Amino acid sequence: MRVVVIGAGIIGSAIALELRQRGAEVVLIESHAEGGHTSTASAGMVNPFSLTPDDSPAVPFYLRSLQMYPEWAQQLAALTQIDVEWRQGGCVRIALTPTDAAYLSDSLAWIRRYEPSAMLIEPAVALEWEPALNKELTAAIYLPSEGWVNTERLMRALHQAIKLKAVNLYSGVPALCIEVAHGRVRGVRTAHGVIEGDAVVVAAGAWAGALLQPLGIHAPLEPVRGVILKLGDLPVPVRRILSSPLGYLVPRADGTVLLGATREQAGFDLRAPAESYAYLLQSLARIAPVLLHSTVVGPMTGLRPDTPDHHPYIGAVSGYAGLFLAAGHAYHGILMAPATARALADLILNGKTELPVEPFDPNRFTR
Ligand SMILES: Cc1cc2nc3c(=O)[nH]c(=O)nc-3n(C[C@H](O)[C@H](O)[C@H](O)COP(=O)(O)OP(=O)(O)OC[C@H]3O[C@@H](n4cnc5c(N)ncnc54)[C@H](O)[C@@H]3O)c2cc1C
Repeated sequence: MRVVVIGAGIIGSAIALELRQRGAEVVLIESHAEGGHTSTASAGMVNPFSLTPDDSPAVPFYLRSLQMYPEWAQQLAALTQIDVEWRQGGCVRIALTPTDAAYLSDSLAWIRRYEPSAMLIEPAVALEWEPALNKELTAAIYLPSEGWVNTERLMRALHQAIKLKAVNLYSGVPALCIEVAHGRVRGVRTAHGVIEGDAVVVAAGAWAGALLQPLGIHAPLEPVRGVILKLGDLPVPVRRILSSPLGYLVPRADGTVLLGATREQAGFDLRAPAESYAYLLQSLARIAPVLLHSTVVGPMTGLRPDTPDHHPYIGAVSGYAGLFLAAGHAYHGILMAPATARALADLILNGKTELPVEPFDPNRFTR
């Protein structure tokens, strides 16, 4: 079985590695020299609960992916000697207004159905654990299972693992279109000719739509720009993810933190406007005002591949035998990467998966 994967972001790279480790011949095509700009620029939270607005049907899949993370990180380190800095340090989610406090308490009710150890904590306890937090916080919950990775290291490890495992990587080679004949895929056309395959996986993030539209496939995708500021020289350390309705802080092993994130409709424009900084610094002033004394190390900007229901497309595309979609992971692509890779490899190699992919049917907007 020869599979052509388009896009070397976290999703395409994880799928290519999984397929190769399970015996497939894999070709990975990436437009840029180094793929996965958005994946690298992400905050790296592996957080099934803290950014999930309600009891989403995606939560069972999020949890399976979270469970895979420790082993996934360890395997990548063993293979590449790159520590991806996986930390399962938990998240403190705070409220600063009575409305937010009521919402936090409603959220805890559904979160506890999945994670019984999630708990309400007294504001004084939250402040003792995390002295950077705003002293005016009115309520807090603690989500002990949430974690994070260093996405720069993770993407480096994935790309290194792909090379070591002999995935054929064509970087700097844009996929121009998907070749089909008699209702089945033949391969992918590039400026160097057609790369043939028995199956094709479109994992091109926010750009996937351009490859699907010529085939009449209706799987809407919209880029949503996100800007993060990396902060250094913190006056007090941050040990856990700190999250609020205004934004979040994610610690890194080197003592810096990532302050995120904006949500902007700006097409494919990757520049970070001054107003993004203003928004982030205003939210910092509410979440952890003492960190206004830290240093801005720099911005990180990426384009989230969003879909109308904010769920990704994971699975086979109807009408074209051998065509698979793994795109649209929006706010949760880092969290969902290991489970997406396993599910897609199951579907390609065995025609079925035991992972709960039902909410992610790529054909759901066609019907
Ligand atoms: C600011 C910010 C913070 C985030 N924080 C988190 C977080 O904390 N936790 C979390 O789970 N998620 C987070 N996300 C979301 C996460 O980053 C994305 O869901 C994830 O990176 C999407 O991965 P991807 O591989 O689908 O896309 P990408 O990383 O964009 O990769 C797609 C690749 O496809 C390539 N490509 C496109 N078109 C072609 C073509 N025609 N031919 C060949 N190659 C092509 C591109 O060059 C690119 O390398 C965040 C995102 C942003 C922007």
